[in-house]
Amino acid sequence: MAAVDNEFQRLLGTADLLPEESARWVTAENTIRATMRRFGFGEIRVPIMEPTPLFDKGTGASTDIVQKEMYTFTDRGNRSITLRPEGTPSVVRAYLEASLSARRPTWKLFYIGPMFRAERPQQGRYRQFHQYGAEMIGPGGPEADIELIALGAASLADLGITDVRLVMNSIGAADSRRAHNAALRDFLKSPAVSQALCEDCKRRTETNPLRVFDCKKEPCAKPVKDAPTIDAFLTPEDRDHFAVVRDGLERLGIPYAVDVRMVRGLDYYTRTTFEFKTDKLGAQDALLGGGRYDGLVELYGGPPTPAVGFAAGIERILAVIAQDEQAGSAAERLDVFVCALGAQAAALTPVILAALRALNISADRDFMGRGLKAQMKEANRLGARRVLIVGDDEIARGQYVLRLMDRSEQTEIPADPKDWTADLFRKAC
Ligand code: AMP
Repeated sequence: MAAVDNEFQRLLGTADLLPEESARWVTAENTIRATMRRFGFGEIRVPIMEPTPLFDKGTGASTDIVQKEMYTFTDRGNRSITLRPEGTPSVVRAYLEASLSARRPTWKLFYIGPMFRAERPQQGRYRQFHQYGAEMIGPGGPEADIELIALGAASLADLGITDVRLVMNSIGAADSRRAHNAALRDFLKSPAVSQALCEDCKRRTETNPLRVFDCKKEPCAKPVKDAPTIDAFLTPEDRDHFAVVRDGLERLGIPYAVDVRMVRGLDYYTRTTFEFKTDKLGAQDALLGGGRYDGLVELYGGPPTPAVGFAAGIERILAVIAQDEQAGSAAERLDVFVCALGAQAAALTPVILAALRALNISADRDFMGRGLKAQMKEANRLGARRVLIVGDDEIARGQYVLRLMDRSEQTEIPADPKDWTADLFRKAC
């Protein structure tokens, strides 16, 4: 087998999507767009590269993403540029740059596209991966959280994911967080606990103590088990907000569990955070995650503007779907393979293909000048539903042979493409 030289190989954690695979992607993307439209969300397309401070400040200096996962480089104008590791900062930036708030108080936006994080590649974790995400910018009330979570649930259901668990938490607004952070810091600094923590968590005690709940390292598990959790520190307003969100989900019949230790990997979250998880992918169990980010618009220089959003990983979703379905979906099959035999047929084939394609029938041929047997093999390989056999005899008779591959039958059709209709080929199957 021919292989590419080492220096040209694709980068670790990136993928080529070959036609069988990309067809699944297109189907998924179409489904996502249909769900978004149903919920009144409009698509926004933002750049893949952004000024580095957008993430340093927005995603947050204490996050793993900013500390060790960003693809950052200096461009020829000596500017620091980063390949976006997530979509929300760009959407908020675009919202501000286009002065969207002047037009409407509420914006419902969605995106689909690649994200970049220099993580250690493993199953379900890549360096270029793809997310779809939705953002609702403007409303601060719990109804928006309910709408967003309902959208997340509907998008997964529409994609064919049935087996997910919704886990939620409220990490509170500034006052609740301040009180909780202080208590948590005191707890983590107590000598018995502090000694037991890993180096990362010792650092987190100062920078972002909440993140210790996310530490997977063994020494931290035991002391952190007894750490104070946010639920005891929520202000009455935060508590009410969360109660209305939960009540809304119950009315919608969307089951959930509350996990007071759930922390999401981004700094800007406030109040509601949530994650849809699967049991089918091992450690990388989060398919879709999000929450409120009431301070981000202001952080970028805008007026105080609450917002809520989520992002979902398309690779992981497709991996779950692939486990559930048989390979070779109907959409990928070729309608007609044209099997040309002889010089006369070879000259006619481009016209035959053009006529079929004009009828919106997918059509292909052999380009290697091979015999009948090899061409039939190729047709099978392409999953062709029909093979149109065009040889000297057929041309002389003015009738081509149309072989129905699934039924091992054949029929004849007139040779003049002017007599063809889409039905002529469809009916023949
Ligand atoms: P996050 O932006 O970190 O909240 O992630 C949202 C979703 O994106 C996750 O639930 C995953 O489904 C997906 N995701 C995040 N990081 C990766 C990655 N490195 N590779 C593949 N999918 C990812």
